[in-house]
Parts: sequence; structure tokens; C-alpha cells
Amino acid sequence: MKHNFYAGLELDRVAERRSDTAWIESLLRDPTSRLIPVWRSRNLIVEGDMPEAVLLSTTEIQVSNGALFLGLSGSTAYFAADLSPLEETALPGLFTRGKFIDLRAVGAVMDRQHGALLAYARGLTHWHSRHGFCANCGAATVAAEGGHVRQCTNPACNSQHVPRTDPAVIMLVTHGDKAFLARNKRFPFPMYSTLAGFVEPGESLEETVAREVYEESGLRVTDVRYQSSQPWPFPCSIMLGFRARALGTEFRVDGEELIDAGWFDRAHLRATHDPDKFRTPRGDSIARRLIDEWIAEKP
Ligand SMILES: [Zn+2]
Repeated sequence: MKHNFYAGLELDRVAERRSDTAWIESLLRDPTSRLIPVWRSRNLIVEGDMPEAVLLSTTEIQVSNGALFLGLSGSTAYFAADLSPLEETALPGLFTRGKFIDLRAVGAVMDRQHGALLAYARGLTHWHSRHGFCANCGAATVAAEGGHVRQCTNPACNSQHVPRTDPAVIMLVTHGDKAFLARNKRFPFPMYSTLAGFVEPGESLEETVAREVYEESGLRVTDVRYQSSQPWPFPCSIMLGFRARALGTEFRVDGEELIDAGWFDRAHLRATHDPDKFRTPRGDSIARRLIDEWIAEKP
């Protein structure tokens, strides 16, 4: 099965060796190791027809708050580093190598491996930026295990925290030959997309799908089927893609979260529309894939 954008990274995470601090440090000193800088949630990219990630040498830049080990590709080690505390003027050189931009602006047209690598770096650095203090006792935490753990520094607490990813379901609801798409008020333009929502404690994924669809649209669904998943580090989710069948077609929109919705047939979704009036989701999103796969099922 084809990977979704930002998945399918060909990198050995070498989880079993992350606790070997001497080994990680030797990789950091190795001039062939590569460092992916992240600055204020943005990745360093050379723009163009095929945007490229800028990979630095680990010896090229001093990382004050620690480099995070991502994994190995062959014998080359990859690290990520969050340079957010630094001002632009403290990073001379870097701003001439490329531009720090939101990965989502270029993800759909860049090399898939580069996109996945940058997504991984962005997700991991974001988690560190929000977990400097122990959620259990409030003491400071420090990175451990190559950056895949944060250890509480209070000996009486000694909690370990691991990188967190929030599971969210995203689902294409169908009825006969039509699919239900809605316009969220947060969408910046007239984009119609699938429904989505976060998994709550004590729920199966199928239950989340049914609850979210009902909450947002009033539709009752059955036959909830898993399709594929996508890392979505914007800032820290994984999107779990489903298809679900509606029991009826009558829906409501609350006017708060959703401002419009409707049932669309394949012909409408295949047709070219005035982009100021109707758009489908961005090319790098699993929402788009869920829609495209459904369209492709029938001529
Ligand atoms: Zn603690």
C-alpha cells in the first residue's frame, strides 16, 4: 500500500541503542552525521519546483539544548535540533542556505523521504519544547535516550515521559453514491473536507468515528472501516483514516464548528471548480486520499 505523505521514512530508528550515550555522542561528533534544524516550528527548506530539506553537518552548528537522535540511514546518523531560542541574527549563514517555512506549504510537492524526515524532526522537537517540566511533580526534566525520553530531575519523583502523539480519527462518510463533506469554520478558503476528531479516553476508534460524526453532523453511521494512517505533526497528531456508511442523509450543521456541509457525487468531486467557490483538501492530507480513493472506486 502506498504510504501517506510524511510516512514511509526509510530510517532505522535503532531504538535498542538509544540509551548508549557514548555511542550517541560519537555519532554527534561524526562529521558525516546530519542535523535537521527546526526553528519556531518551521523547517529549513530550499524552495523551488522540487523543494529540498537543508541538512547540516552536526559539527557545523552548536546546539545548546541538545540534539535529538532520529536514526540511521545506512551508516549516516540523523539528528534534529530545535533552534527556536535563537534570534535570526544568532544564526548567520543558516538563513542564506534556505528558508524556514511551514512544512505543510511544500509537503505535497517535495521529495517524500525529505518530507517524512522533516515531519519527524518537527514532531519530536515540538514535544520537547512543551515538556520541559514534569507533569507529575513540576520539577525540570532533561532529555534522555537520544531525545526519546524526558527524565524528571526530582529524585523523589523520577518519572520518565515519552514523546506523545495524539490520536485523531478522520472519516469519509458515504451514502449510496454520495460522500458527505463539510466546511469547518477554521478552513481558510471554501474547502470541503471529511470530518475528524480526537479520540477520548475509554473509546475504541470505531466509537470515536461514530460519536464525532453524530456530534458534528447529526448523522448516524455504521460499517466503520479502517483505511490508512498518517503522521500529522501539526503539532502532534496521528490521523487514523476511516470510511463509514451513513444510515440516512438528513444532517445538520451547528454553524459554529461547521458552517456548511453537503452530499457530493463523484462527478462533482472530479470536476474542476472555481477555487473561490469549492475546493477539496490539500494534496498532502489523508483527507484528500480518503476522498480520492472513494472517487476511484467507480468510473
Ligand atoms: Zn517529576
